[in-house]
Amino acid sequence: MRVLVLNCGSSSVKYQFIDMDGEKVLAKGLVEKIGLHNSEMSHKRHDNVTYTVEKEILDHNVAIEMVIDILLSSEYGVIREKSEIDAVGHRVVHGGEKFSGSVAITDDVMKTLEDCSGLAPLHNPPNIKGILATMKLLPQAPQCCVFDTAFHQTMPDYAYTYALPQNLYRKYGVRRYGFHGTSHRYVSDRVAACMGRPYIELKIITCHLGNGSSIAAINCGKSVDTSMGFTPVEGLVMGTRCGDIDPAILLHVMEKEDLTIQQANNMINKHSGLYALSEGASSDMRVIYNDGEWTRDHVHKLAMEVTAYRIRKYIGAYAAAMGGLDAVVYTAGIGENAFYLRALACSGLEFLGIKIDPEKNFKASAMGEWRGLEKAVTTDDSRVQVWVIPTNEEIVIARDTSIIVSKNKK
Ligand code: AMP
Repeated sequence: MRVLVLNCGSSSVKYQFIDMDGEKVLAKGLVEKIGLHNSEMSHKRHDNVTYTVEKEILDHNVAIEMVIDILLSSEYGVIREKSEIDAVGHRVVHGGEKFSGSVAITDDVMKTLEDCSGLAPLHNPPNIKGILATMKLLPQAPQCCVFDTAFHQTMPDYAYTYALPQNLYRKYGVRRYGFHGTSHRYVSDRVAACMGRPYIELKIITCHLGNGSSIAAINCGKSVDTSMGFTPVEGLVMGTRCGDIDPAILLHVMEKEDLTIQQANNMINKHSGLYALSEGASSDMRVIYNDGEWTRDHVHKLAMEVTAYRIRKYIGAYAAAMGGLDAVVYTAGIGENAFYLRALACSGLEFLGIKIDPEKNFKASAMGEWRGLEKAVTTDDSRVQVWVIPTNEEIVIARDTSIIVSKNKK
């Protein structure tokens, strides 16, 4: 079966076309700046033949049509007929409490997705647009949704309940949902395989550190807590999001600075995190690191320390939540590359049984020879193993889609 995996954001469509026989990525690419004048598409075939174009791409319909056309192209494509796309798997951000796993798309599912849109007003509407466009363009292909929230639906009520008036939960669904579920699920499963231990016996903490960052506690194969909450703002320090703050700060600042809800929202989502800590220098970890110069720059040193301390606190908290710890996993752009942040976040955790091996830790980074590989970065006698595992959300989406579609065919 060949599965087209689509990740439709507000102004972008990321895609991978995967042959499930051998799980080979036949082609992948990105359509960016949809709806703007300088939209662009970049495409790469499995044999490294690439295609890029800059032109006006009006909406998701046009973007997905371009994706299908390039897959069909004689010069850059990999198929001759649309019917060779056997199924489509969509990444959908919010499944609310309705979806604890991936599902085939039906009219009822579409209705529920619309209902969940209020919970993710920035993310679910473009996901829905992408699904509708694909239904029109590929009417023969069954489609599935894989939700960012689904993996965390196993959290116990005492982990997902906020100590707020409970009618807010009943009326508006105010509770912790958690995000990046597909990534946490993939890397936790992989670390068990790498350690040669049964997944359902392990206590694992997964740190997904990218532009958005979250951390999850996975006890015996089930997510039992995660740092993102009702929205993706809660938890760790991120590129431009603040993570945990005293909620009363918002009210205080809104009053003092006479901010609208939109301005306050922009402050915590777009003008905080690393960007704010570095006094506006950058939201990119590479700039803060600055080839190792961060230790000599007070502002950047503090930015790094605040970020690492938050991770360390969560590791301690989640070890306590699970009553033990077997493995910690780092993944995503920062987690897979920023060896210095991993070392700083794990420093002082020897009491938990974590002993980082500096040489291995450096090797498993953007600058090291283990770049892009699954590697343990702890010493051989470290009781808790720390691993770097590159995430692969697309393969999870493709696998779930292929399983659901094969079952439905029977
Ligand atoms: P992601 O969301 O997983 O694509 O991660 C994107 C983020 O990863 C970027 O904003 C960078 O801060 C960070 N990143 C990417 N490459 C590196 C690197 N070589 N070293 C440190 N951070 C990196």
